[in-house]
Amino acid sequence: DGLIWYDGEMVPWREAKTHVLTHTLHYGMGVFEGVRAYQTERGPAIFRLEDHTRRLFRSAHILGMTIPYTPDELNAAQVAAVRDNGLKSAYLRPMCFLGAEGMGLRADNLKVHVIVAAWEWGAYLGAENMERGIRVKTSSYSRHHVNVTMCKAKANGNYMNSMMALQEALACGCDEALLLDTEGYVAEGSGENFFLVSDGVIYTPELTSALDGITRRTIMTLADECGIPVREKRITRDEVYAADEAFFTGTAAEVTPIRQLDGRSIGHGGRGPITEKLQTLYFDVVKGRHPK
Ligand code: PLP
Repeated sequence: DGLIWYDGEMVPWREAKTHVLTHTLHYGMGVFEGVRAYQTERGPAIFRLEDHTRRLFRSAHILGMTIPYTPDELNAAQVAAVRDNGLKSAYLRPMCFLGAEGMGLRADNLKVHVIVAAWEWGAYLGAENMERGIRVKTSSYSRHHVNVTMCKAKANGNYMNSMMALQEALACGCDEALLLDTEGYVAEGSGENFFLVSDGVIYTPELTSALDGITRRTIMTLADECGIPVREKRITRDEVYAADEAFFTGTAAEVTPIRQLDGRSIGHGGRGPITEKLQTLYFDVVKGRHPK
């Protein structure tokens, strides 16, 4: 139930449909965002709305798709999707996909459709895991060619790899996957950026093979404000095993502690103190209780 913004109009959830010959359904070329709105004292507030919209347009540009709306129009569409559904907090999914006007790989003659859906969505990796931390498996799937060259784009096609990695991790009894880059260094989770803490310093992979996460940037700023040094560097798998703390960040996953990698405990095997501090600060910021 509810309403979905679809090509400029609010459409009832059940009627927000597309044809089976929709090009993106066949070949996977499309771009999307994951955005959250949080309940604040002044009503629901979409966190980093402009940044998400900017990344959506950048992703489309990288893929050669022209979005037939302005950033302001898509910002307004996201605000409307929360408001018109009467949501206090929400996960939002703006998505651009190619129409059903033609098959084959040529896409320049196809219409670009845009939707914005919004719904209530709790902790992505499980509410209890926000405190206790998740178990992660190093993936046998690496960030391959397309992912690495296109990692500035949040593109539908990039997620086949992520889904295979997550499927494998779940089959092994873990909660999430850690993907390495093609050289074997840590890249990111299936839908999250990665951080570790060692001797009071926070490390995160450079953006050579990971998405430029909006939550990642927020966490780096918050750590900086707390006087905790943050360094971007190549991270090896054994550095993660030996870390004091590790956590994932993402719009969906927010700040999720990692308690285990490949069956080895990280630190004391739970949420570490720096992770907890940043997690608390993050929720203060998104809920408007912190000036940033
Ligand atoms: N990495 C990948 C592959 C993702 O899909 C996401 C989710 O958007 C992230 C990282 C985290 O990015 P953000 O913090 O902007 O949500």
